[in-house]
Amino acid sequence: MTIDLDQARIALQEERARLVHQLEELGATETGELRSDLDFGGGFADAGAVTAERTEVLGLVKTLIQRLEEVDAALGQIDDGTYGTCATCGAEISPARLEARPASIHCIECKSKT
Ligand SMILES: [Zn+2]
Repeated sequence: MTIDLDQARIALQEERARLVHQLEELGATETGELRSDLDFGGGFADAGAVTAERTEVLGLVKTLIQRLEEVDAALGQIDDGTYGTCATCGAEISPARLEARPASIHCIECKSKT
């Protein structure tokens, strides 16, 4: 079974658009910056709740940015012809794994070490 690169690229671009959209909804840019005009005060009476909300949003943003970086790395691998191989050890990543998660750039073994 060979990997369909066109299919993978489409899946990755769709995931990228979805992640960017989620970031926008959180009020963050692609680089993880929160919009300065973002209002965390709405509906919260005390500053502690505002801080907690902000921390939660920043955590979500961080997760989304990490996934975005993986997607970009996988797209880069498609471009330089290394897609489907582990970015750490060079081992082949199983097509089933790539199909389930197109942004996989590490084999299961390396992934479990991080
Ligand atoms: Zn590996």
